[in-house]
Amino acid sequence: MSKVLIVGSVAYDGLKTPYGSAARTLGGSATYSSLASSLFAPTHLVGVVGRDFRDSDLKLLASKGIDLDGLEKVKGKTFFWKGYYKKEDLNVAYTLKTHLNVFAEFNPKIPSEDRSIPFLFLANIHPELQMNVLKQMRKPRFSVLDTRELWINNTRKTLLEVMKKVDLMVLNDMEVKLLTGEPHLRQAASAIRKMGPRRVIVKKGEHGAMLIGPDGIFLAPAVPLEKVVDPTGAGDTFAGGLIGYLARHNSVSLEHLKQAVVVGSLVASFTVQELGAKSIAALTRAKIAKRAKEFYRFASLPLIKL
Ligand code: AMP
Repeated sequence: MSKVLIVGSVAYDGLKTPYGSAARTLGGSATYSSLASSLFAPTHLVGVVGRDFRDSDLKLLASKGIDLDGLEKVKGKTFFWKGYYKKEDLNVAYTLKTHLNVFAEFNPKIPSEDRSIPFLFLANIHPELQMNVLKQMRKPRFSVLDTRELWINNTRKTLLEVMKKVDLMVLNDMEVKLLTGEPHLRQAASAIRKMGPRRVIVKKGEHGAMLIGPDGIFLAPAVPLEKVVDPTGAGDTFAGGLIGYLARHNSVSLEHLKQAVVVGSLVASFTVQELGAKSIAALTRAKIAKRAKEFYRFASLPLIKL
């Protein structure tokens, strides 16, 4: 078993989905992904919160065994994101507000004993901060990068620099197209690989995920759910589950990567079933194992005879 280091946003979210809303609920890319990763391997979170960050939220993260030595609490307000989703397409998040607040001045300091953690997840945050983290690390064994539309549009140059330094990039279909200008997903993924990462995962929401690397392509379907309540955090928990699983097996072999994509899909399927981080915070490996059994029944392709 190895360890995971995650840097990203720790936030309060204002959410509105066709099935519910919350004015100020615990969120953030590092929050979601750490909750997912900690199901599988010891996870250290690096980020910043403001004085308004609730003790109950800190306790929740700590109760999952997440190491919070790298989570600073400073004067000011916690990162705030407000978004909504339309019933017609729950895969698209519409951003109403992004208040960086304490993240505007944040300069991540990785605790010295965390700098040699082998599995690194650069969750969605300003690419400058992602680069600062990379500079402090002692050559991680496996680094995974996430980003989002805002950073692709506004901080493209720095993002391209970060991309040169990571092993795997995880993006959704829209972000891949935005980043490469290439409408065809497979070609877009190849274009991303030319920009740096050896492997790319393209997440296609309810249509599953595609892993593309030098050794070929792997397709994983998404778990077919009766109802999605809130897609927030699906991508973060997919990636958190994936890296946690790799760290648990201390492996980055293609076989483990494929398994990790399946684990990521399973974990994300729980995240979207309740509003905010409620469902990922209540998740256990036993629940994942139970759903995995059903998933394997749906998902296998029969061999055909021609
Ligand atoms: P996703 O479901 O991938 O949109 O991720 C949702 C989480 O990302 C929310 O909990 C937000 O707090 C967080 N988030 C939204 N916008 C940003 C941003 N620009 N940078 C970092 N985190 C963000």
